[in-house]
Amino acid sequence: MVSFDGKRGLILGIANDRSIAWAIAREIMERGGVCGVSHLPDKPEDEKRKNRMRVSKCCDQFPDKVAFLEPLDVQDDAQVEAFMKMAESKMGKIDFLLHSIAFADREDLSRPTVETGRSGFKLAMDVSVYSLISVTNFARPMFNPGASVLAMTYFGGEKCVPGYNVMGICKAALDATVRYLAFDMGPTDVRVNAVSAGPLKTLAGVAAGVGEMQEFYGHVAPLGRCVTHDEVGRSGAYLLSDYSNGITGEILHVDAGYNIMGSPGRLLEQIKPTKS
Ligand code: NAP
Repeated sequence: MVSFDGKRGLILGIANDRSIAWAIAREIMERGGVCGVSHLPDKPEDEKRKNRMRVSKCCDQFPDKVAFLEPLDVQDDAQVEAFMKMAESKMGKIDFLLHSIAFADREDLSRPTVETGRSGFKLAMDVSVYSLISVTNFARPMFNPGASVLAMTYFGGEKCVPGYNVMGICKAALDATVRYLAFDMGPTDVRVNAVSAGPLKTLAGVAAGVGEMQEFYGHVAPLGRCVTHDEVGRSGAYLLSDYSNGITGEILHVDAGYNIMGSPGRLLEQIKPTKS
């Protein structure tokens, strides 16, 4: 059984209890791991500190397993560096690092890709792709040998998924980043992988239009259904654990098999042939 006894690491990207990062973190903490957790900084005028509050509602379920909950905006390298120094002072060396972060302007997700603006493109790439390089780089002094870095990606980076638009371009770049980081980090015995998850209802997922896609997966995927948060959580935890020690630079599809299909599969049975 996958165990995180004696393991410590960082979880970046919990927004609420529907976040994929929370599904993975919960799995790790239930199996004995200790997590340092980030939340997006609250605006000074937000007296209720809603970002922090939503994440702390999750963390409060595992008071003994959360080393800290601190703000981090991955667009700011100074914050990333300070966050990693703070994490090292509180946790010492780490065994895993989860990057479960993406962002694009809603307008850029809803307009045709050909009309993506320069600033929206840069913003999406900065938050969703460059940040993986930045957090891995600033965490380098902290990694124990055998440590594992995991990012979250989606099939829309491999094939055209209309509606995913600029985020598909980001995921293609993220997948390539995983492979190049895996090569760089290999000599220090640090692995870098990604889970390519099927559509799940989360804040980011709903913004990217997962509702209809979940139903479509039910018709097309070999398993005849979409995946669950728990399934993605377990697979993510596996790649962050010692049980995947020989795996790096890999994109693991946790998508009920959707990505292997070269036709709409069983959906074809519902399309009646036209009479000639
Ligand atoms: P989510 O709960 O909305 O998580 C996205 C996280 O990114 C949030 O915690 C968000 O914080 C954070 N974030 C955005 N900008 C940030 C910044 N500048 N600095 C730090 N954190 C920032 O949605 P999710 O679906 O779990 O997404 C997690 C990852 O899984 C993403 O990479 C996504 O593309 C990927 N993924 C999702 C699906 C899906 O169907 N849901 C499928 C495949 C892959 P705030 O919410 O507080 O802004």
